[in-house]
Amino acid sequence: MQVFYADQFVLPLPPGHRFPMEKYRLLRDRIAAEIPSIRLLRAEPATDGQLALVHAPGYIQGISDGSVDAKLMREIGFPWSTAMAERARRSVGATIAACRAAQQEGVAANIAGGTHHAYPDRGGGFCVFNDAAVAARLLQAEHGRQRRPPLKVAIVDLDVHQGNGTARIFRDDPTVFTLSLHGQKNFPFRKEASDLDIDLPDGTGDDAYLQALEGALEELSHRFDPGFVIYLAGADPHEGDRLGRLKLTWDGLEARDRRVFDWAWQRGLPLAFAMAGGYGRRIEDTVQVQVNTFAAAAGYARRWHNRPR
Ligand SMILES: [Zn+2]
Repeated sequence: MQVFYADQFVLPLPPGHRFPMEKYRLLRDRIAAEIPSIRLLRAEPATDGQLALVHAPGYIQGISDGSVDAKLMREIGFPWSTAMAERARRSVGATIAACRAAQQEGVAANIAGGTHHAYPDRGGGFCVFNDAAVAARLLQAEHGRQRRPPLKVAIVDLDVHQGNGTARIFRDDPTVFTLSLHGQKNFPFRKEASDLDIDLPDGTGDDAYLQALEGALEELSHRFDPGFVIYLAGADPHEGDRLGRLKLTWDGLEARDRRVFDWAWQRGLPLAFAMAGGYGRRIEDTVQVQVNTFAAAAGYARRWHNRPR
């Protein structure tokens, strides 16, 4: 399985900043040590033209050269720096690369990404550009060039926070289905309307969560016929998360990942996934949730590799 990373660009953050930047490096080290079937590849930056499939040219330029409004940077939550701009671009590039690899091999991933709070002309909640949205539009454009019927993409967002930016971007687009399962009382406090939103109460545990997921995937399948899946495998529904208000265990999150992979497998759908959020009180806990996701995905990749053609 091919997995793309951009963690060589570390943002200079002030001391005590609550974004756990080092988790990406820790995750990459553990994957390299523990899951030998994963090929770790450095991501190329997304181009201006790719970003412009979703984002306003003025916003892309402001992020790139630092002329972006200070208020917009405060909403994102990072100080502006050239490393920040480069990392944001490469994180989108990593999701694009993962989507292209998944089309060939069935499944692939971005070790970061899932920046679902980004809108066309602004970011928010540690999200600069919306990688899943850019990648979905690019896949559709590349697919269309081959004179095939339009590619329909399902974005399955299981981060604990609602995918508000993604919901808004595709609000009037019948070719992309946005599903978000999230904590009702978690950020963002003003939510957008996804194609399907499942609001979960504080303290939701494994059984109730998995039941809600089952119902959501069933409804998605009933209303939409995707040709590709982008999965945001947020680690923040874990009970040890500082920001998330749900209470999933290690086992519950692993069952969640397996359910999404099985659902795609049963429909023969290529799937790319990104990490989205994770803010464990212990950073090792967040990394463990994510390592488990990659371990499940590596097993899933073997199924694709060995499938009868
Ligand atoms: Zn999140």
